[in-house]
Amino acid sequence: MTNEPANSAVPAAPTLLTATTAPTQDAYRGRMYINGAWTESQDGTRFERHSPAHGHVVSTFPEATGADVEAAIKAADAAFRQGPWPKLKGVERARILLAVADGIKARVDKMSLLESLETGKPLSQARGEVSGCIDLWQYAAGLARTTSGDAYDSLGDDMLGIVLRQPIGVVGLITPWNFPLWILSQKLPFALAAGCTCIVKPSELTSSTTVMLMEVLEEAGVPAGVVNVVTGKGPTVGQPLAEHPAIDMLSFTGSTRVGSMLGGLATKNLKKIALELGGKNPQIVFPDCDWDAMVDAVVFGVYFNAGECCNSGSRVLVHESIAERFAQAVVERARQVPVGDPLHPDCKVGAIVSENQLSEILGNISKGVDAGARLRLGGKRYDAKGLYLEPTIISDVTPNMGIARDEIFGPVLVIIPFSDTQQAIDIANDTAYGLSAAVWSSDINTCLTVARGVDAGTVWVNTFLDGYPELPFGGFKSSGVGRELGKQAVEDYTETKTIQLHIGERKNWWLPRPVA
Ligand code: NAD
Repeated sequence: MTNEPANSAVPAAPTLLTATTAPTQDAYRGRMYINGAWTESQDGTRFERHSPAHGHVVSTFPEATGADVEAAIKAADAAFRQGPWPKLKGVERARILLAVADGIKARVDKMSLLESLETGKPLSQARGEVSGCIDLWQYAAGLARTTSGDAYDSLGDDMLGIVLRQPIGVVGLITPWNFPLWILSQKLPFALAAGCTCIVKPSELTSSTTVMLMEVLEEAGVPAGVVNVVTGKGPTVGQPLAEHPAIDMLSFTGSTRVGSMLGGLATKNLKKIALELGGKNPQIVFPDCDWDAMVDAVVFGVYFNAGECCNSGSRVLVHESIAERFAQAVVERARQVPVGDPLHPDCKVGAIVSENQLSEILGNISKGVDAGARLRLGGKRYDAKGLYLEPTIISDVTPNMGIARDEIFGPVLVIIPFSDTQQAIDIANDTAYGLSAAVWSSDINTCLTVARGVDAGTVWVNTFLDGYPELPFGGFKSSGVGRELGKQAVEDYTETKTIQLHIGERKNWWLPRPVA
C-alpha cells in the first residue's frame, strides 16, 4: 500500500510490510503454576490474548482469584521456611540455574514466536531477546557460587566479626508486557541464586513465556513452591504482592504510576522494594559527532521495540547549529525503517501492543502539535488491519511542552534544540525521570562533562542501548529504586546478619576496672 500524508509538507511514512504467511498455530493454553502443580483459577475463569498484529487469539490463561494468590503466597512461604531451597549449597543452586538456561535454549523457537505474537514485536528481535535470557541465567548461576558475606579480623584479639548474607525470604515479582521473558530474567534467576522463593505476576497481555518458563524450571529440578506463577489482573494479583505480610520484598518493573502506588503500599507494610520504572531518555547530539553513527543510533533508539521501551531514546537534544540538518537526516533515515508484520523477515518495527496504548500515543502526538511543535514525519495509524503506527518525528519542541517531558512509549521522536553544553544538561535533567541518556561527540571533555552531569542510571557515549549482565541497570529519580544486574544483583535479594564471636575469657561487666 502507499501511505500518502494528509499534510503535503510531511513526507510519506514507510510503506507497511505485509506478512508472507499468516500464523497458523493453535492458541497456547497457559495454566498457573502453584506449589509445583499446574492449576486453573479457583472459579474456573480464563482470559484471552489477541495478537495486536493479526487479531487472532494467541493464548489463554486462568484469571486468578484472591484465593489463588493466597495459595501461591502460602506455597512460597512454606518453601522458604521449610526448605530445601534456601539451604542448598551455592553450587547446587547454580547447577539448576544452568539447567534452566539449557531449557530456554531448547525452546528459543517456541518462546520467540509466542513473544512476537503477544507483544507485536518482530520475530527476529524476539529471538534475540529469548536467546539473550540464556546468558542472564548463566550469569546468575555464577553469582550463586560467588556471592558471599564478609569477615572482620580487625576488631581486637578477643573479637571476630562475620557478616552473613542470607536470602531475604519470599519475593513478589511483577513484570510488564514490553520485554516479558527478558525482564523476568533480570529478576528471577538472581532471586533464586540468593535462595529466595518467589511469586511471579506477568502482564496479562504477555503471560505465555513466563508460564512456559515454569515448564523449564520444573524439568531443571526447581522444587515445588519455590517459584509460583499467578496470571490475571493487576489489582487482584499484583496488589496482594505489595501488601501481604508473608512477602518480604517486592520487585516491580512497569509504569511509574503503578510502581509508585505499589511501592507506597509495600513500604507501608515494611517490605523491601526494587522498582524499575519509566524514562524520557535524552540523546544529546553535538556538531562534532560521527554523523552517520549518530543518525543510525537515533533512529534505532526511538524505533526499537516500536518505542515501547523504558530506555527508548525518545528525546533528542541537538545543538541549534545543526538542528535543521539533523531533523532532515533522521526523517530520511526513518522513512527507510521496515515497519509491518512482526513475522516478516525484514520487519524492524512491529505492531503496538494494544488499542489503548495506540490511542494514548496518538493523543500525545496531537497534544504536541496543538502546543505548537512541528510534525515532520508520521503521526497517524496505518490504514491497515493490525495496530500499526507510522514512525513519527516532531521538531521545534520546547522543554516545557508535555511531549518533551512525558513518557510516550511509542515510535515518536521529539527534537529539542540547545545552545551550549550546560543548557543541554539542564534540559536533559528537567524531567521527573532519570533512567538513561546518551552523548554524541568526538570531544572526550564534552562526553565526560555530559556523562557526569546528567541524572541517569546509564549513560551511553557514542553508542545507544547496549547492555551486559555485568553492568548494573536502574534509574535515578522517578525512574526507579535500586539496580538490577551487575555483580551485586544477588545481594539485592539478601539480608545481612552480623555475627560477633568472642574469643577467650570475657571480663565481667560489674567488676571494677584496674586504674591505669
Ligand atoms: P504497568 O505499570 O501498567 O503494568 C506493569 C505490571 O503491573 C503488569 O503486570 C500489570 O498487570 C501490573 N499492574 C497494573 N496495575 C496494577 C495494580 N493496580 N496493582 C498491581 N499491579 C498492577 O506497565 P506496563 O504498561 O505493563 O509497562 C510499561 C511501563 O513499564 C512503561 O512505563 C515503561 O517505561 C516501564 N518499564 C520500565 C522498565 C525499566 O526497567 N525501568 C522496563 C520495562 C518497562
